[in-house]
Amino acid sequence: MDQTTALAGPGAISRHRIAENVDRTSSTYPPLNWWRGRLRNHESTLSFTASFCALNKLTLKDFENFFGYKVGKEGGLQQADFERIANLIREDIASVQALFIPSISIRLSSYCEVLSTDHVRYCRHCIALGYHSYLHELPWIQRCPIHLTTLDLVPTDRKGTTKAQMRAHTLAKLLQSNCQGWPLTDDGDMVMQQERENDYISLLQMWTDYARKAASSFSFITSWDNPSLPKELYDLGQLQWLEPMPSILDMLVKQSEVIWDVDIRHFSDEVKSELRRLSAGTPFWTIFDFYKRVTGYESVPPPYVLKMRQARSALREQHGVCQCFWGKELVSSTDRWISTGGWPHWNNRCPYQVVDKELELRWGARTNVLSSTRASKEIVDFVQSSYPLHYAGLIHHLEYANVPHPQFIFKRVPDVWPCSKWNYSSALTPLLQAAAEFEVDSAIVEISAWLEEIDPYTPPNDANLFNDMIRLVNQNEGLSLVRWIKKKRSK
Ligand SMILES: [Zn+2]
Ligand SMILES: [Zn+2]
Repeated sequence: MDQTTALAGPGAISRHRIAENVDRTSSTYPPLNWWRGRLRNHESTLSFTASFCALNKLTLKDFENFFGYKVGKEGGLQQADFERIANLIREDIASVQALFIPSISIRLSSYCEVLSTDHVRYCRHCIALGYHSYLHELPWIQRCPIHLTTLDLVPTDRKGTTKAQMRAHTLAKLLQSNCQGWPLTDDGDMVMQQERENDYISLLQMWTDYARKAASSFSFITSWDNPSLPKELYDLGQLQWLEPMPSILDMLVKQSEVIWDVDIRHFSDEVKSELRRLSAGTPFWTIFDFYKRVTGYESVPPPYVLKMRQARSALREQHGVCQCFWGKELVSSTDRWISTGGWPHWNNRCPYQVVDKELELRWGARTNVLSSTRASKEIVDFVQSSYPLHYAGLIHHLEYANVPHPQFIFKRVPDVWPCSKWNYSSALTPLLQAAAEFEVDSAIVEISAWLEEIDPYTPPNDANLFNDMIRLVNQNEGLSLVRWIKKKRSK
C-alpha cells in the first residue's frame, strides 16, 4: 500500500497544514497531518487517537499499524516507544510522555484509570472546543477541572472490536458532532489558555504529587521483602488520610464511600536489624507465613489464634441453620458460586462455611481443615521449606519428630505432626504476633461486611475478601506495622 496516499489529509486546509508543518526536505517522511503543539496538556490518549485518525483519514487499524501499538494498550509503552512516537509526529518527547503517563494520578504506577470502559465521560464545554482530557475520566473526579461543570457519560457505540476501539470511535463521533471544525480547529488551544490560568489543575497536580510521595514513603518495605506479595493498596481515601486535600478541591472530587483510619504499632531498631539480618536469606512474608504455620497448632494458642477461633464461633452462632442463597461446589475446582435454591444442598459449601474454613486455614491448625491429600501435601511442603528457618533459629524441629532433610527424598514426612516449635525468644516474635493479630482483626471486619451484603440475586464475590490491609513500613528509627481500617462513611 502506498503510505503517502493512505495518510493524505482530508482537504485543502489540511494540506495547508502539511505544507506548514512537515519538513518536505525529508524524503522518507510521509506527509502527516500533525503539527507540533497539537498535543495538548492533559489530553487523553483517546482524544489523540481520534484526532490523529480524523486528521489523516486513518482507520484505527491503520493507526495501530502506523504507531505500532494497540489502542487501549498504551500502558505497555516504554521510553523507547515515546521517543519513536515523538519522532513520528514531531512532538517533543516530554509531551508524548505526558500523553501516555498522565501526571495527575493517584496511582503509584503509570496506569491510567477510567471510570468505565463501556462509556466515554466528557465535559460538554471542552468537547465543544475539541478537547478531551484523561482527567474527565478519572473515577475520583466528578467535575471538569477547567469549567467546573458536571461531567456527562455516554455509552460507547458498538463500532470496533475492542472496548478501547469502541471508546475511540465514540469520542470521535462526540467531537465531530459537537465541535465545528474538529479536528482542524484551534479552539483546543483556548482550553490550554484557560488551563494555564486554572488554579484547580495546578492544585490537583500539587496535591497528587505530594500524596503519591507520602504514599511511597508510607509504603511497605520493598527492599528486603517479597515484592510480588503486597499490592498497590492506596485509594483516594487513603491518600487523603496521608495528605489532606485542599478543601477547594472538594467540589471536583468524588467523595469516597469509605473513610480510612490506621492502627500503627512501632517496633524498635533491634527488631528492624534482626529482620534485616534474617530477611537477607528469607523474605519477611515467608518468615511471617512460617510463624503462622507453626504457632497455629499450639496447645496454648497465641492471642491471634484465640481471636480467630472466637470469630469462628460467633459466625457459627450467627449462621444457625443454613438458609444461605449461595454455595460453592465442593467437588469442582472452579470455585464458582451457584444459587442453591433451598438447602440442604450436599455438595455445596455456603458463604459461612467458606469463611469458617478459610479462617482456620489462614490463622489456625491448617491440616485440621484440609482434605487428607492436601494435608499431606502441606506437611511435605512444610518439611521441604522449613530447614532455612530451622537453621536461622526461628523454629526448631522437635527431636523425636525426625524431620527429614530435603536431601533425603525417600523419607518425606516427619514422625509426628506438627513437627516444629516457634522460637519465642526471637526478637521478631512480637512483630509477627502483632501482624497476625492485625490480619485477624481486618478479616473479621471484612467478613462481616461481606456476609451482610450477600443477596439472592448476585453471586457473592469473595475474590478480595482477604485483601491484606497490613503494611510494614520502614522508619528512620525502627519499623512500623500499619493496619488500614476501612470505615463506611456515615450518611
Ligand atoms: Zn471542561
Ligand atoms: Zn449457610
